[in-house]
This record gives sequence, structure tokens and C-alpha cells, in this order.
Amino acid sequence: MNEWARQIREGSARALARAATAVENGDPRAVELLRELSPYTGHAAIIGITGPPGAGKSTLVDALARELRARNRTVAVIAVDPSSRVTGGAILGDRIRMLQHHADPGIFIRSVATRGASGGVASATADLARLMDAAGWNFVLIETVGVGQDEVAVRGVAQTTVVVLVPGMGDEVQALKAGIMEIADIFVINKADHPGADEAERELAGALSLAGGVRPRILRAIATEGKGVAELADALGGSAGSGPNGESASQAGHPATASVHHHPGDHPVKAEIGIIGGSGLYSMPGFTAQQEAAIDTPFGAPSDSFVVGTLAGRQVAFLARHGRGHRISPSELNFRANIYAMKSLGVERIISLSAVGSLKEEHRPLDFVLPDQFFDRTRGRAATFFGEGLVAHVSFADPICPELAGVLTKACDESGVSAKSGGTYLCMEGPAFSTKAESNVYRSWGMDVIGMTNLTEAKLAREAEICYVTVAMVTDYDCWHPHHDAVTVNEIISNLMKNAENACKVVAAAVARMPAGRSCKCGEALAHAIITDRKLVSQATRQKLGILVDKYFV
Ligand SMILES: [Zn+2]
Repeated sequence: MNEWARQIREGSARALARAATAVENGDPRAVELLRELSPYTGHAAIIGITGPPGAGKSTLVDALARELRARNRTVAVIAVDPSSRVTGGAILGDRIRMLQHHADPGIFIRSVATRGASGGVASATADLARLMDAAGWNFVLIETVGVGQDEVAVRGVAQTTVVVLVPGMGDEVQALKAGIMEIADIFVINKADHPGADEAERELAGALSLAGGVRPRILRAIATEGKGVAELADALGGSAGSGPNGESASQAGHPATASVHHHPGDHPVKAEIGIIGGSGLYSMPGFTAQQEAAIDTPFGAPSDSFVVGTLAGRQVAFLARHGRGHRISPSELNFRANIYAMKSLGVERIISLSAVGSLKEEHRPLDFVLPDQFFDRTRGRAATFFGEGLVAHVSFADPICPELAGVLTKACDESGVSAKSGGTYLCMEGPAFSTKAESNVYRSWGMDVIGMTNLTEAKLAREAEICYVTVAMVTDYDCWHPHHDAVTVNEIISNLMKNAENACKVVAAAVARMPAGRSCKCGEALAHAIITDRKLVSQATRQKLGILVDKYFV
């Protein structure tokens, strides 16, 4: 690494400022510098904050920066104003307000007002954001003036875009609508104490509902009084950190806090426990403060958007495995996207609930089995994140997390659900059920229950270093059983409903007694698994697997 890059990595504000100038001026040395620093990017949360002039963006950015600093997160602010050379620098004027931060080494402020760099403001801003990221800043706030072409381009850099509006801007909203719809992840109605705030929110919600798809969140704020700023920081994943520069809370021994590492694949909404099951779980008692998180992954879209909320004081993310309305068959499931999305939410433990058939007389309908082994009878499923020039072989001898299984065993006991610890879950391809010949062979092998999904999930969870446990809920005996054909649809449906009810109790009890930190080895599953020479791994593959492997490439 050259001296300049080294100084930036060591936190020299002077070297960083010099680099920012080089980027803005399109200095060729900046290109070389960014190349040197590129392995260190991918950790910052890069947030775009935009909206029409007069919406109070600078005040909001100022208040947000203060809030994040109070949470021990470092903040770099890039204020983009392409017109400032002409207008005398409205934003640069606003920056005077930021002077109060000047004594704080945890805040870095930079205005961009040049088109000197090739590719214009958007390109220079993207490079600046990467520079701040590599320098170890936790948050990079990119403040832009409006919703023009540059801002939409900046959207490609920011992981989350916040659009700031104020009451009484109905016409502007109309004018901006097309652009806004596409770029906003979060709307903030600032100056929410002004008349018309309710109307503004109604209009916005109405416009968004017409746009369809997953609706961005709408928050309210009075930035001048600091109101609503904590909620915005929460929504942006600003959980408390401990170190002044680049050191995360989890490294500093606060395992109960959801992951605060920020990567390109990271999502601003955070959860620590993931639940995969049926959509009936969303309405379980005690599950509050729900919000929807639509997550895109390098492997495509998950089965559905996640429903994230609080249960027994913990942040929990629910995913309907087959999508709401049961639209996706086992063979069609994008298991990789489902597990990757869990990872990007910061999930460290997954509780997987599944209806299964019983292969043993002793596992009766309505029993829960907590298997500790799997047997693979699937075909042609994508069951690994690796490949494309990066080979990893994880240990899978014990596919279920023993610590998590222990928690579930106790949770079943507490809930009065008959549960058996241990056993083998045979994972078949489906969608048709087994023939009697197959079912009897599986029995002769000593298999306990049969299902179509959990093995694939468990493999990917292990690669993602997430603890995984299966709660196999017996609905009926598989076709080997003499009474199998006599079972009525009503009985099966009644069993499914009773199981779903019990599942809610067991999940609530498990979450309530979940230890804060992990004492198992799941979180280090990749420590000795990556075989490929790190130097030979392409940037594209590194990028794609960023949130899974970054810590092994530093
Ligand atoms: Zn574990």
C-alpha cells in the first residue's frame, strides 16, 4: 500500500481531505488511490438524503449526524450542490451550522460543487463515498439538492435513500413524484408541526399505494427540535457503536445488538432472530412494531418481503417460506436469496418451522420433532453461495446448532408441546409425496420425519454462519402407515391449525429465553472453509459474497 493510502487508513484527516480534493479535481492519482483502497470498502452505511430546496435537509442531516455521534458512530457528510459555484453556495452557507461539529474528530464534512471530475457530480460523489468508506467512517451521508439526474445516479451509490418533504408541498410532490417513487426507501415529512402535515402524509401514502409494490416507510420529524431524528437513525441501522472509528459494537462485546457492520448487501432494518414458517405467524400475540422489509439480494428476490418487529423485547424477522398465499413450490424456492436476506438483516439465528410427515409410529401427529441430522434426497437445487472462483467447504457433520436446539427443547416444554430431541429429517425433492416403496426404504434407513425444504436452508445458513434449528411439526404419517389413506382432509387441516397455534407459543417462548450472545461455533463456520487463494478471487465474487466473507479477507 502506498503512503497516502496508509495514512488514510490510519485516520489522517489531512490525507483524507487531500484525497477528496484529488477526487473532485479528477486527478489521475485519485484513481490509483481508490484502487489501492478498494479492498477496504464495503463497511460503511451509505445514505443518500435528498428532497426539494426548503425541505430542511441540512438541518435534518445536522441533527442526524449529532444523533449518530451520540450513538458512537462516526459520520462523514458529503454535501452535493452542483449549482453552488453559480449561486454562491447555498449549501456551503448551511454548512456554517455544522461548524459546531468541527471540534469533533468523529465528523467529516465535505462539500462537492464541481463538475471537474469525469462523469460529473454523481461520479465524483460515488468516489468520495467510497473514499470515506475505505477510511473507516461508519456512516456516509450524501446530501443532495433535489431529485434530478445526478441524484438518481447517486442512488446507485447509496444503500438507502431518504427523501425529505415538508407540508404544503403538494405541487412539488406531484412534480417530483416520478423520480421520488423510484428512489425513496424512506420518506421524512420534516417540519411536521406545520399545518398540513397530516394531509401531506395522506397524499404521500395515497400516491405510494397507487405505485404498488412495497411501500417505503414514512417518518415524521421536526429537525430543528431534534424530533423524529432518533427514529430515522434507527431506521437507518444506527445502533450504538463503541469505537470512534470503524470499530463496531459487536466487536466490542455487545452481541445482543444486531450486526452493525455495513456492507453493500446490508439492509438498514435490523433483526437478530429470523423465523421461517407460514404467514400465520405474523399475527402471533406479542409481535409488535411491525414493518415490512423488501430485500433484494445478489441471488435474486426472497420468497416475500420480511415482516420485522419486536417479540419479547427482541428484534425478529419473519419470512413466509412459500410466500404469502403459498405461491412457491419447494423446487422453486430461492433458498439462497432467503438466507442471504436474513444475513443482510443481521440475523444470527434462524428458527425454521416446517410441516412434516412421520416415518416412525412413535412420532405421532401433533408431535414436534427437533431433528439433529438431515439426509439429502433433493436434486439440482442451488444449495451453496460459493463458486464463481471462490471455493469453500463448510463442516456440516452436525447441521443443527446445538445451543439453539437446546433453547427450542426448553421452549417446547414450557409451551406444553410434546417435543422429541434428535432424529433425522429426510429432505425430498417433491412436490409429489413419496411412493410407498420410497417411504419404506426411508424407514429401513431409520429416518424419522420427511419434508421438502429444511436441509437446503440449513446448508446455506451454515455457510452464512447463522445458527439454524428445525422445528418439524408432524401433521400426519407418511404413506407407509396402514392408516395413511384413511386420514381425512379435515383431520390434516385440523392438525395443521393446531400445529400453527403451538408453533406461535414455542416461538414466543424460544425468543423470550434466547441468550444474548452465541457460545456455539456457527459464527465461525467459514474460518477454515475457504480454500481458494484470496489473491485470485475476483472483485465481482468478493462483492457478491461481501456480507458473508468480508471478515476473512481483511
Ligand atoms: Zn449456533
